[in-house]
Amino acid sequence: MFTLLPFHIFFNYRKGKTPRRPPPKKPSNNQKDPVGVYCRVRPLGAEDGECCVEVISSTTIQLHAPDGLKANRNGEFKETQYSFKKVFGIKTTQCELFEDVAKPLADDLIHGKNGLLFTYGVTGSGKTYTMTGSPGQGGLLPRSLDMIFNSIGPFQAKRFVFKPDDKNGMEVQNQVDALLERQKRESQQSVPKTPSSRQRVDPEFADMINPDEACKADDVDEDSSYSVFVSYIEIYNNYIYDLLEEAPMDLIKPKPPQSKILREDQNHNMYVAGCTEVEVKSTEEAFEVFWRGQKKRRIANTQLNRESSRSHSVFIIKLAQAPLDADGDNVLQDKNQVNVSQLCLVDLAGSERTSRTRAEGSRLREAGNINQSLMTLRTCIEVLRENQMCGTNKMVPYRDSKVTHLFKNYFDGEGKVRMVVCVNPKTDDYEETMLVMRFAEMTQEVEVARPVDRPICGFAAGRRQRNQAFKEELSRRLEERGGPVDGEPPAALNQLLQSFPPLPASELSDPNDDHTIPRLIEALEKRHRIRQMVTEDYNKAGISMLQDLDGNLMSKENFIQDQRGRLGEKDKMIQNQKNEIDRLEKKSKMLEYKIDILQKTTNIYEEDKRALQHELESRDHRLQREVSEKKRMEVRMHGLVTDEKLRWQKECERRVNAKELEMQNKLWVKDEKLKQLKAIVTESKTDSRPDQPQRPSREKDRVPGEVFKTRGGGQSVQFTDIETLKQENPLGPSRKRTSSETGPNQEECKDGSWTDVETRCAVAVEMRAGSNLGPGYQNHGYSKRRKP
Ligand code: ADP
Ligand code: MG
Repeated sequence: MFTLLPFHIFFNYRKGKTPRRPPPKKPSNNQKDPVGVYCRVRPLGAEDGECCVEVISSTTIQLHAPDGLKANRNGEFKETQYSFKKVFGIKTTQCELFEDVAKPLADDLIHGKNGLLFTYGVTGSGKTYTMTGSPGQGGLLPRSLDMIFNSIGPFQAKRFVFKPDDKNGMEVQNQVDALLERQKRESQQSVPKTPSSRQRVDPEFADMINPDEACKADDVDEDSSYSVFVSYIEIYNNYIYDLLEEAPMDLIKPKPPQSKILREDQNHNMYVAGCTEVEVKSTEEAFEVFWRGQKKRRIANTQLNRESSRSHSVFIIKLAQAPLDADGDNVLQDKNQVNVSQLCLVDLAGSERTSRTRAEGSRLREAGNINQSLMTLRTCIEVLRENQMCGTNKMVPYRDSKVTHLFKNYFDGEGKVRMVVCVNPKTDDYEETMLVMRFAEMTQEVEVARPVDRPICGFAAGRRQRNQAFKEELSRRLEERGGPVDGEPPAALNQLLQSFPPLPASELSDPNDDHTIPRLIEALEKRHRIRQMVTEDYNKAGISMLQDLDGNLMSKENFIQDQRGRLGEKDKMIQNQKNEIDRLEKKSKMLEYKIDILQKTTNIYEEDKRALQHELESRDHRLQREVSEKKRMEVRMHGLVTDEKLRWQKECERRVNAKELEMQNKLWVKDEKLKQLKAIVTESKTDSRPDQPQRPSREKDRVPGEVFKTRGGGQSVQFTDIETLKQENPLGPSRKRTSSETGPNQEECKDGSWTDVETRCAVAVEMRAGSNLGPGYQNHGYSKRRKP
C-alpha cells in the first residue's frame, strides 16, 4: 500500500539544502512491449496512375514492383510482403483508426502514463491527414483531445491550481492563490476564454468530430483533480521553434524566430526549455491553440521560404493530476503527489530522399539536415534493436538530432510508442515506399518498457462523491428551511418534553400562599425523577446500543480481516498467474519471432528451389536436344559408312579382277613367247603354222563391264578390258545386226586378234619393264589401256 512521505523527509526535500539529483528514472518493471507499428494506405489520387500496393490481409500488404523497374536488382522479389500490427486500407475512417491506434494512448494518459505517437511516410502519403485531419474528418489529434476532455471534464481543477514550474515539473497552488492569479491574468486580458459551444469556434476546425463518435475513458479516478496543458513545437533544420510563443510578429520586417534548446529535468526526462505550455479546459480551446500554432507555422514557412514537408511538428498534451484532500474538496497541496503524464503527437517530415524535391543551395543543406534527423531516428532504432536482440550495449546516438534527443526517454525509460506508417500506393513512390517499409519492419522489433501503474494515494475512495453529496444535501436543506440546519431540536426531545407533567401555575399573589410553592416543588421533583429515569433509560439503551455496535464492529472487523486474508491469497494467486502469463507471453513472442525467421528462411529456400528447378529443366532440354542431334548424326554417319564400304568393296573387287587379268595376260604372253620360241625352234623341223593361241577360258565368261551402284541410287557400267570387248560381240545380243555386217567384222576380228596379241605382248613387255619403274608407271599403262 502506498504511504505518504514521512514529514521529516518531506520537510528536508522542500527545504532542499542539498538538492541531489535522484538516479536516472529506470523503468521499475521489466515488462516490455514492442513498438506498435500500423500501416495506413491512402486512396490513389486522380492523377496518380497505377497502384503498387495491395492490402492482402488485416496485417499484411504486398508491394508490386512497377514493370519498368529491375525488380531483383538487390536480390529482391518482384512482389514483397510486409506485416504490421494492423493494416488500414483505403476505406478506413478516421474514427476506426483512432479506436485502434490512439485511443489506448489517450486512455493511458488519463491513467498517468506516457505515450508517443508518430506518423511516418513520404510527403503526400497522408501523415498530416492522419494526425490532424480535415473538417468532418478529424484526425488522431483532435480525437485524442476530445476523448481526454470527455473523460476528465467534470474533474478538472480551476485554472492556475496546477502551474508548470519551467523545469518540466508541476506546482500546486491553493485556491486563493489560483484565484488571485486568475484575476491578475484576466486583467491583463491574456487568458483565453473557453468557447462555450462549438458554434463559436473557428469554422476552419469546427465539427472536426461528429458528436456521435465522441468517446470516453473507463475507470477515471474521480478522486483526483486534473488539468491539461498543451505545447506545440516545430523542428526545422535541427532547430526547435515554439509555435505558441506570444512574441509580437513584425509584419514589415519579420525577425527570424528564436530557437529553443533541450534540457534534462531531475528525472532525466528531456524537455524544451522555456516552451509555452497553455492550460486548456476544453477540446475546442485546445484545438484553437493548436490552430494558432498551425497558422504561425504557415506564416513562418511562407516568410522564410521554407518547405513545410521538411519540418517535424510535435504537439504535446500534458495532463497534471493530483489527489483531492481527505475532505474531497480541494486538491492536495503536495507537489510530490502531482502526477504528470504526457502524450506526444508527432507529424514527421517526409521521409523521401533529398534528390526527389530537387532542392538547391541552403534549401538543400536544410533538407539534408532534416533527412539527417530521420536518418538518426533510423540509426537509433537500428542500434536499439541490435542491443535488445543481441544483448549488446552499444551507445544509441539520440543526441545526434533534436527529434531523437527529445524522445530519448520513451525508448530509454518507459511509455507506449506507436507509429502509423502512411503509404501512398502510387507507382512513382514505389522505391521510397520500399525504404519506408524496411524502416517499419525494423521498428517493430524494438521493445519499450511498459509504463507502470501510478501509486494510489492513502485517502479513502469516493471522497469527491461524498463531498458533492454533502454539499448538495446542505444546499437542499438550506433552501427548504430558509435558515441554518443546526438550530432544530431533535424529535425525541420534543416527545420527552410533551410527556412531562404540566407545571402548575407559579404566580404568587399572596405572601401567605402555602400551596403554590410546594405544588411547584412537587411538580419539579416529579419532573426531575422522570428526567433521571429517562436519562437512565437513555444511558442503558445507549450502552446496550453501543455494545451492540461494538459487537457489530468487532464482527465486521473480523470479517474484514478474514476477507483481507483471502484477498492476500487471491492477490498471491493473481501474481503467480500474472508471472505465468508473462512467462508464456515471452515464450510466445520468442516463438513468433522464430516462426517469422523460419518463414523468411523458407521463402529464401523456396526461391532457391525454384531457381534450381528452372535450371534443371533448361539443362534437361539441352540434353534432349543434344541426344536427338547425336542420333541424327549417327544415322547420317551410318549411311556414309555403308556407302563408303560398298564403294571400297567394289573398288577392291575391281582392282583384284584387274590384277588377276593382268597376271593372266602376263602368263599368257609368256606362254605365247614360249610357244613362239618353241615354234622358232621347231620351225626348222616343221614348216607349219602353230595354232592360234587360246585365251584363258575365263575371259569368255566375263561380263564386258562391271555394274556399280551409284551414290544417287542408279547404276553405271565400268568397262575394264577393251581387248576382251573387242574379241566378243561388241554390240551384245540386244543390238540386232545383219549377217553381212557380222561377217567381215568376224574376219577382221580374226585378223585383229593377231594385232591384239601383238599389242598385248607389247604392253606386257612395257608393263614388265614398268613394274620396275613404280606404280605410277603401271597406272599410266593401265589407264591408257582403259581408254577407248
Ligand atoms: P503528408 O502530410 O504525408 O505530406 P497529407 O496528409 O498532406 O500528406 O496528404 C496529402 C493529400 O492526400 C491531402 O490532400 C489529403 O487530404 C489526402 N489524403 C491523405 N490521406 C488520405 C486518406 N486516407 N483519405 C483521403 N484523403 C487522403
Ligand atoms: Mg504533412
